[in-house]
This record gives sequence, structure tokens and C-alpha cells, in this order.
Amino acid sequence: MVGFTFETLNKSTYKIVQDDILRELPFIYVKVYPTLLALIDTGCGPNHFREEAVEETSIRKWLESNLDKAGQLTYKDPGTGETVNKHWLVFITHTHYDHIGGLFEFADDSTIFISGYSQEYILKDLGCNSLCCAFNIPTPKFNVGHWLQHREHLTFRGVDLKLEALLTPGHTPDEIALYDSEEKVLFAGDSLYEQLPIYIIETSDMMDYIKSMNEVLGYVIKKNEFGPRVVTAAGHMTHDRDSELLIQEHIKCFWDTIAGKSVLTNQVEMRGLNVLTYMNETKNVGFMCVESKLRAAMAFYGFEWDVPALPATAPKV
Ligand SMILES: [Zn+2]
Repeated sequence: MVGFTFETLNKSTYKIVQDDILRELPFIYVKVYPTLLALIDTGCGPNHFREEAVEETSIRKWLESNLDKAGQLTYKDPGTGETVNKHWLVFITHTHYDHIGGLFEFADDSTIFISGYSQEYILKDLGCNSLCCAFNIPTPKFNVGHWLQHREHLTFRGVDLKLEALLTPGHTPDEIALYDSEEKVLFAGDSLYEQLPIYIIETSDMMDYIKSMNEVLGYVIKKNEFGPRVVTAAGHMTHDRDSELLIQEHIKCFWDTIAGKSVLTNQVEMRGLNVLTYMNETKNVGFMCVESKLRAAMAFYGFEWDVPALPATAPKV
């Protein structure tokens, strides 16, 4: 039984999907360089497969065997003539459990890049903030090798990675997007995807989200002025959608949701909180909001309407 898929995203990058038990189906990406490998997120970890009889549960072993088959795992050191493994750079789009579950496999010998927006958020209570505690799974231990700065152009040991980091707090404080200028791909983590709502949960901030997305929209519009248009490769569901149109769709849905004009499609109690899902007319994008977060944004932007209270008979999840 196979627990991951491995496919080509573009000429330098592969896309991997983990078939996990909670159906998060996290998207993981690997960009290949002559002497380096850049991994974007690490999935849910080895104990979260839908099927029990998965042959290879290690994301690292799975990646390395597939990269080896493609002749991309190693390179010949020009100094010594020896064949050596490429060094892993691991970028975490945000530290939710379904993005850091496999991170422990890279903790000893790789370089880990995480948002420098709020180091306290990562260092103080990662167990809760990552939802590892909520799902009763061990919180991975790792050291951050590089705290990313907003609009940082990334190089490593003299190699231009052709990647730029954008700090995009909103879904979480540590959310980032990574822009690959070589392939014109925006890796957007959990800020932008389709068919499912963006989660606005306990550690999310809707005001930060819209500020981040407005800035990313301006960034993408500038990149679209020349050459092929930017596409979004997200943490779930979406890997090749036109970025500008996708961001605009989310921004429109955001304002419709704040103004009470989106469609309420679901309402549940989650961790004792009233959680409401609003989608746009086509049900392509939407927001699943903890009531208090939605109310805070409505108050901030001066909107007033009745958020439905959780009915006494609401199903528990
Ligand atoms: Zn997330």
C-alpha cells in the first residue's frame, strides 16, 4: 500500500501528497538544485496514514528513494570527486501538525526555515499552536536554522535559491508564502486554496489575513507584468491555479463574509467553540471561522449582522 504520491509539478519541482487518516491530504513540494534540495512542508508524519499497511511511512525515505531513481539525490563534489548527498533545506509554510509532522526526520542534519514574524509563537507553545496536542500526537522537536524575514531573497552557501519569502500572517501568525521566481510559482501554504474553506481558528487573525492577501495580490500583479503568469501551489487542494485570480476570489469572499453576504454552509462545535463556514456562490473558496474571530473582524471593519448562535443540537466534531 502506497501512502504518498510523487509527481512532477514543473521542471525543477515535484509535488507529493500524503494520504492521511484525517483527509487533510497535505501537499508537500521538493525543488531540486544541483547541490541542494528545498522541501516545502513535511506532511502529517508517519502515524497518520489512512491505511494501516503502508509500506513506506517515512516522508524522507520516500522522497530520497524517488529522487535517487530520478538521479537527483546526490552530486559529485568537484573538490574530492566523491559522490555526496545533497543538503536538505526545509521550509515550513506554517507549523500546523499537517505541515510539520515529518519534520523530526530532518531535525539533525538539515537547515530549517520558519517565519520570523513571531519567534515566541513557535518557541513558547508549539504543542498547542501546532494542534499536535488537540490531535494527541507528539510535537516534533527541531531547531530553527533560519528565521525568515519579509521579502527576503534566499541564498544558501552562495547558491541563489531563486526563492523569496513573504510573511503572510492570518491563518496563523507564522504563515508564509514562498515565491519561486524561476518557475513563477507562489507556494501559499494554507492562505489560499480551493474547494475547502480557509481555517480561521483560535490562533488566526482575519485582519492580518486580509492585509497579507492584499499585499500578496500587489506582489503577484507586479510579477504578472512580464512573462508567464504566476500560479499558486498551496498546502492542500490547489497546485496550478492563476494566483492573481485566486487571491482576488479570496479577497472578495472575505469581504462578503464580513458583510454577511456569503453562504453559510456549515456550523459545528469544535473544541467548545461555535465555528461557521461561509463559502462564495460557486462554493470554490470560503472561510471556516471561529465565531469570536469573525465578530472581531466585523467590529473592526464596522459591520453588524447576526452571527448564528450554535444550536443546542449542533453536532460535535
Ligand atoms: Zn494550517
